[in-house]
Amino acid sequence: ETTVNQQLIDFHEQAAKLYHHILVNTEMGEPALKYLNDRGLSDEIISTYNLGFAPDKRLLLPFFQEKKADFQLLRQSGLFIENQEGQLRDRFSGRVMFPIRNQSGKTIAFSGRVLVKAENSPKYLNSPETDIFNKRKVLFNFDIARAAGRQTGDLVLFEGFMDVIAAYRAGVKNGIASMGTSLTSDQIVAIERITKKLVICYDGDEPGQDATNRAIGLLNDEPNLNLNIVQIPERLDPDEYLKKYGSDKFQKLITGAVETPIGFKIQFLKKNRNLDNESEQLDYINDVLKVLVTLSSPVEQDIYLNQLSSNFHLDKETLKQQLSDLRQTMP
Ligand code: ATP
Ligand code: MN
Ligand code: MN
Ligand code: MN
Repeated sequence: ETTVNQQLIDFHEQAAKLYHHILVNTEMGEPALKYLNDRGLSDEIISTYNLGFAPDKRLLLPFFQEKKADFQLLRQSGLFIENQEGQLRDRFSGRVMFPIRNQSGKTIAFSGRVLVKAENSPKYLNSPETDIFNKRKVLFNFDIARAAGRQTGDLVLFEGFMDVIAAYRAGVKNGIASMGTSLTSDQIVAIERITKKLVICYDGDEPGQDATNRAIGLLNDEPNLNLNIVQIPERLDPDEYLKKYGSDKFQKLITGAVETPIGFKIQFLKKNRNLDNESEQLDYINDVLKVLVTLSSPVEQDIYLNQLSSNFHLDKETLKQQLSDLRQTMP
């Protein structure tokens, strides 16, 4: 006897297969296939990620009804929306479908991207939470990435699914992404089971930098996880960077990541500040010292104090004095 969860997974596996078929073999799928090809995805990568297309008409409901699938199970699957009268209709339509896989590689949910931008519909629509899909626990591409990450010794955290797939195309197969939310403690635990090093590679735009700053804050209390930060230049996201600069440069940017969280913070604190203005400069230096005071390694502190002293033409001993004053006020 198969359990409910097994049947829900089976629905998702079948739906993924059908969406994929629509994308690669039918006329209905042609615009979506062209869209993906135009974004640089080969047929091979489309197969690897089992990408699909949900057309603008009823697809899954008749498919499962014909198979005499259990109505209650269909309701629970998250693949449908239920109206007031208790009737189901496909949740996803007119969207490129990204299957979300569990650690065993089985599809447990979807994220659908609109083909054509519309005012009132979100760019990415995710499956709702179900018995088999807890978005706080799942990381996109984790099944592939953990095998790759055991080889490289690190995982790379991206913002979007297309960034993870871009990385894979460039030979960086240890990429993961959360489900459009910030990292959760469950996801951090999952990462730490695989590796001692995480590279954060969010978008280079302002939301991406803010998200990086938040992620660093979340991971601050994880002594077992070394962090490096990649900042994508020109406000590009990783996928856009790959398109513009190619695989070699992409790989070098990611695998050569050396920036530390402190290094990132020191840059990040400059945001929205005019450092030519004396009082804003003082505020900035104060904020940097507040970060440095949290460092346990005196050598590391010294490196950044040297930088600060030379960048702002300040006496290092004065900075040291201020740092130790700050330390006094710490709890
Ligand atoms: P694309 O390259 O396809 O335009 P993106 O990944 O660059 O997408 P961003 O706007 O940078 O898109 O968003 C990053 C990620 O945030 C997405 O991949 C998705 O996981 C999530 N996301 C974006 N918009 C939404 C939304 N409306 N609802 C849920 N998640 C979203
Ligand atoms: Mn973004
Ligand atoms: Mn992006
Ligand atoms: Mn993008």
